[in-house]
Amino acid sequence: MNRRDWIKRLGLGATAGALGVLSRPNAFAAETKIRSTGSLPRLKITRVRAIKTAPQRTRLVVVKVETSEPGLHGLGCATFNQRPLAVVTAVEEYLDPFARGRDVDAIEDLWQNAYTSSYWRNGPVLNNALSGLDMALWDIKGKRANMPVHQLIGGKCRFAVDCYAHSSGRDHQELEDSVRKNIEQGFRHVRIQLGGYGSPQLSRNADFKDADFGLPKDTLMDAQPYLKATPKMFEHIRNTCGDDVELLHDVHERVEPRDAIRLLKELERYRPFFIEDPLSPEANDYFRQMRAATIVPIAMGELFNSPHEWVPLIKDSLIDFIRVHLSQTGGFTVARKIAALAEWFNVRSAWHGPTDLSPVGHAANIHLDLAIHNFGIQESLQFNEASQEVFPGCPTIRNGYFYVNETPGWGVDINEEAAKKYPYPENPGYWEPVRRRDGTAVRP
Ligand code: MG
Repeated sequence: MNRRDWIKRLGLGATAGALGVLSRPNAFAAETKIRSTGSLPRLKITRVRAIKTAPQRTRLVVVKVETSEPGLHGLGCATFNQRPLAVVTAVEEYLDPFARGRDVDAIEDLWQNAYTSSYWRNGPVLNNALSGLDMALWDIKGKRANMPVHQLIGGKCRFAVDCYAHSSGRDHQELEDSVRKNIEQGFRHVRIQLGGYGSPQLSRNADFKDADFGLPKDTLMDAQPYLKATPKMFEHIRNTCGDDVELLHDVHERVEPRDAIRLLKELERYRPFFIEDPLSPEANDYFRQMRAATIVPIAMGELFNSPHEWVPLIKDSLIDFIRVHLSQTGGFTVARKIAALAEWFNVRSAWHGPTDLSPVGHAANIHLDLAIHNFGIQESLQFNEASQEVFPGCPTIRNGYFYVNETPGWGVDINEEAAKKYPYPENPGYWEPVRRRDGTAVRP
């Protein structure tokens, strides 16, 4: 049966031709069967595997789903920098045998059943593994439809996505120089940090070390120097860089709830675009008090895993931006649902986009950003040359906007030979202890 006869038999006619659905000769490989409902040729998942690589020094895990159509594969991000080998095991020992032989088109069905196949769910390891499978199936769906993924979910609401750059400095001058550089490069939004999270360089007197408590390499962070320095940092940048640039800041959960509320009130006069993660997830109940005390826009949630963790904060309008690390919450399928819930409450998106997310994950962020009305802002990353070599089609930044490659699927592929040139760094990648002066552990 030739291509024309197939189109006739499927009743797709001009539509299929226009979409390019039937344009690949391999679409009719011997093992494919036609569904009783009559649509795309049925394809099966033949293998799910994890690829480890670190072109930007972060331990990336990318899941590759292979199908019964030779050469047709999808990629998904399953990166959990602090526990990557646990994710690799979850993918290869559990998800691969679970998914083999199943229908590549049934994304929702596969997500639901893979999600509950462990019975216990919503931990970071299993959610990342699930995300790898889920995103790869969206990539395949796009390739089969001959469309970029944002077209599958409604098409563009904007031509590209506004993103923010990172600026940090050990002192005001170094930070100011970095902000100016980002503005010169076209960024309209800049996240400002004085040193590392919680400005640990401002802390003195690591008494726990004198008392031989913990290990000598453990670091000190006292909240008060950070809390005093942060309003002064905003004042300096507003005074020197002007009022046009939008300023963001990440508290990174390291202070007590009452102190965080006071800090946000003090920052109101500098009109921050948002303040990120002012509370640790263990202090979620304080958002009600924070919201009542200050008008500063609040972004929260990059440490959440279960999709249900966002629900109370969204439905009571206690936050303004949802920080979601797509792979940590189970992938693209679930992130779309969180975004849709948020839209009804005027909560906007700010997907987590750090180095510990593969270019595939960044592309997934941007495809979602392009297609949802309640897009807020996107955290950005400049991919180095090694990342561009391993991941052809990486997203790009121009004039403060993040762009995806418009080829079908995510628009990002992987060069597996190049990936092997960038093995994981030798250290295991977990976070070392940060302590108060008396040795008490600080929660990031
Ligand atoms: Mg953060």
